[in-house]
Amino acid sequence: MDRTEFLAQKYLEARQKWLPKKAEYYANPAISYVEPFKIADNLYYVGDKQVCIHLIDTGDGLILLDSGFPCATYLLIESIWRAGFDPKNVKWILHTHGHFDHFGAAEAFRTLYGTKSAISRVDARALKELPHRAHLDLSALPYARIPTFDRELEDGDIFELGNTKIRCVLTPGHTPGVLSFFFNVAWEGKTYLAGLFGGAGRNAMSRPYTSHNMEPEHAADMMLDSIAHIWNEPVMVHLGNHPGNNKTMQKRAKQLEEGGNPFIAPNSWHTFLTELKEDTLAVMEKNKAMDAEMTALFGEE
Ligand SMILES: [Zn+2]
Repeated sequence: MDRTEFLAQKYLEARQKWLPKKAEYYANPAISYVEPFKIADNLYYVGDKQVCIHLIDTGDGLILLDSGFPCATYLLIESIWRAGFDPKNVKWILHTHGHFDHFGAAEAFRTLYGTKSAISRVDARALKELPHRAHLDLSALPYARIPTFDRELEDGDIFELGNTKIRCVLTPGHTPGVLSFFFNVAWEGKTYLAGLFGGAGRNAMSRPYTSHNMEPEHAADMMLDSIAHIWNEPVMVHLGNHPGNNKTMQKRAKQLEEGGNPFIAPNSWHTFLTELKEDTLAVMEKNKAMDAEMTALFGEE
């Protein structure tokens, strides 16, 4: 056994643990359905309990931020209707990063409604170079594909549609092309900055993962730089990439119980980023320990 085989085995072990956790959802995504709800004027949650999807009504068509797992496309369509919109008015899907659990409905929307789709240039190129980076092998649908992307977004791009301007900021770490989105939303006559950190999964910074996906070994360093880069964004409405990021479900439960708007939460952004930073440092320690283990087993690189 050499380093590559050692890391491949560790990657497989992690994957074997992950898949059974998803089995029930894959068999019937409706068990994770969430009744759509309003976060701010013109901003709705249309994701499920597994992954976040947000809908923006721009006054000149709808934008989705991400499109969920391929197997849950029907839940997204149901949610858009139940939120009071017609899915055929979804003009664009902006994707946070190139993993299958975020771009799953893009091709169905293109076929059904002519919806266009965008992702960072970095992730678009990475997927062309090595499509297995999207992890379609972990999808519930064996024939799921990487969608066509109509626009490749750059760091600092402003995506404009109707009354909405979305600032796209490259925040690499989870993938090299993660985009975070910032835009203004209104609530009860006041304007707030909404912020969505586009990829926070810690697993993707581990040695076995970066080796398997031929991703940069310094993914964790990139994540620390990304956190520093967007730290000072005055985010008042913190949106999740997965519901755990911003405690989507807890905030929604609070909203249902007490009323008001728990999504206007000045501390949420920094609480999340602080945890992400601590976890990233922990991943770096684990990586160091694994490097030492490999040196002991296989000698100096
Ligand atoms: Zn991901």
